[in-house]
Amino acid sequence: MDSIHVTLAGGKSVDVRPGTRIEEIAASAGVRKAAIAAKVDGQPVDLAGIVDKDCVIEFILPDSRDGLDVLRHSTAHLMAQAVQSLFPGTQVTIGPTIEDGFYYDFKSDRTFSPEDLTLIEKRMQELANADLKVVREEIPRNVAIELFRKMGEDYKVQIIEGIPEEKVSLYRQGDWVDLCRGPHVPSTAAIKAFKLTSIAGAYWRGDSRNEQLQRIYGTAWANRKDLDAYLKRIEEAKQRDHRRLGPALDLFSLHPIAPGSPFFHPKGTIIYNTLIQYIRDLYGRYGYTEVVTPLIYKTELWKTSGHYEAFRDDMFLMNVHDGEYGVKPMNCPGHCYLFAARKYSYRDLPIRYADFSRLHRFEPSGVLSGLTRVRSFAQDDAHIYCTPDQLDAELAQFVAMTKEVYKVFGFDRIEVTLQTRPEKFLGRVELWEDAEAALRRCLEQAGFSVKVLPGEGAFYGPKIGFDFRDVLERSWTLATVQIDCAMPERFGLRYVTPEGSEATPVMLHRAVLGSIERFIAILLEHCAGAFPLWLAPVQLKILTVTDNQIEYAKKVFAQFHAEGWRVELDSRNEKLGYKIREAQLAKIPYAVVIGDKEVESHTVAPRRRGGENIPALPLAEFVERLRGEVAHEMGEA
Ligand SMILES: [Zn+2]
Ligand SMILES: [Zn+2]
Repeated sequence: MDSIHVTLAGGKSVDVRPGTRIEEIAASAGVRKAAIAAKVDGQPVDLAGIVDKDCVIEFILPDSRDGLDVLRHSTAHLMAQAVQSLFPGTQVTIGPTIEDGFYYDFKSDRTFSPEDLTLIEKRMQELANADLKVVREEIPRNVAIELFRKMGEDYKVQIIEGIPEEKVSLYRQGDWVDLCRGPHVPSTAAIKAFKLTSIAGAYWRGDSRNEQLQRIYGTAWANRKDLDAYLKRIEEAKQRDHRRLGPALDLFSLHPIAPGSPFFHPKGTIIYNTLIQYIRDLYGRYGYTEVVTPLIYKTELWKTSGHYEAFRDDMFLMNVHDGEYGVKPMNCPGHCYLFAARKYSYRDLPIRYADFSRLHRFEPSGVLSGLTRVRSFAQDDAHIYCTPDQLDAELAQFVAMTKEVYKVFGFDRIEVTLQTRPEKFLGRVELWEDAEAALRRCLEQAGFSVKVLPGEGAFYGPKIGFDFRDVLERSWTLATVQIDCAMPERFGLRYVTPEGSEATPVMLHRAVLGSIERFIAILLEHCAGAFPLWLAPVQLKILTVTDNQIEYAKKVFAQFHAEGWRVELDSRNEKLGYKIREAQLAKIPYAVVIGDKEVESHTVAPRRRGGENIPALPLAEFVERLRGEVAHEMGEA
């Protein structure tokens, strides 16, 4: 064959001779400089690779998702090269890419310091400027083992020994070599914008019984501008970090005496309870009834539900005198007992049980983080039991409730996902198919464009997730609804049909806020601690200018308090500017200033969080304004 036919993404095509380098085709397509790798028939490859048969080529540009991945992994290599040239005797292990960056784990006698990161970055820049060609080479596995053994790279030897293929690929740049699948950038000069971000401890193969390694994290982007934007974003994230803000605003704390189990301080508890009360009020309107169910059960419960098989390692189990018990990690199995406690007819359905009960899951200590990964939490959890005919209406009602709640919190950037049957699942396949179809129908009717995540449903049923994107561009799944394809049958739940026979009800699991703990963390970071007026733990702070106004200030305080506002009085003998700054730091929505003028005219001079002064006005008028603001926040006005 004299020539092969190469189709370029975008539709154009070229005929070239077999063995042509992909970079030559890139040149003819005008992307020789821009591309850093390519996909041949969907497979990522180096630009230095060749084509020898008809194929489709898509060039990978550095600012695409694939491009960033190649770039970041190449930067991990660059970092490892820099580390080994600066600190001889350091061994390399693995260096994968992660979201927004990469890391590499090293074995070294030296404890890397933040100053070392600056040194390493400098050497990386020199190596990038040197424009070293990145060259792929394939060699037999045993030759590779010999090569890395001679280099003293014991970990690489172990890795290669675990590879089944007879041939392995290496990547060289200058005098440095690493075992790698690739692809990589054609030259170190393609790496233009990177930064090393932190050092952490790690274990070989992630196992704490193995040797301790040192992990260096970094990030890399297509250009300086993207890198700067990212660094600004993580700086902003640090400022908003709920693990910093929570204790600073006196909302909650954590203590090793109860790992992963937050202590909510009085102010945090106000937020906690106000959120629950808000959902409770909605439940009245959406026809839910609240229930209280046990925390501790005999483990038979989870043997029936299937959780004992699938979830046991994440549970707090205990042996007491008459057998094994567990603390509930979720409410559903308990609610099935509740449903079975009396006989229901189709006329009684749907039944909607809401439960704010405390739940406990044994998360490994390594993943615990602030309020987002905890062992003790509560959800705005509910289970709905209905007839098959009622399913669509129940799903639609859930979507309506979710929309209403998201609007109140200003969550407007939403992505909806549909998570389907996983490999390991309980229940009959027909039930799963019907359930997935119902969820699709519901989302179509609601007009959402849906991202399907195949195989990511729970083991007992498919799921819809409403993912919210916060100000830091992070995505969080909050509201979810699942159709249960297993539990109603496993618990033998029945209701009486119009024909007088018995049938199994459809069961839904749903939550809108999800874990209240996690929700508070997300909201805290989203609003940087400046909660809306209706939710702020302290809504108003009265500030006196001098001691002359204390008496009037006390009266104003008593009036706000009597009207149900969460109010504090600061009558300390401090400068007004200082008191205002304190109220500002505590993110209190309103500082209410009272000076001689206000005492004389029986008014108040409110100052909004952020600095806007409202002209002095009578107290009653201000309270009217506050009520209007809350109503507006709650979507009532
Ligand atoms: Zn690699
Ligand atoms: Zn459930």
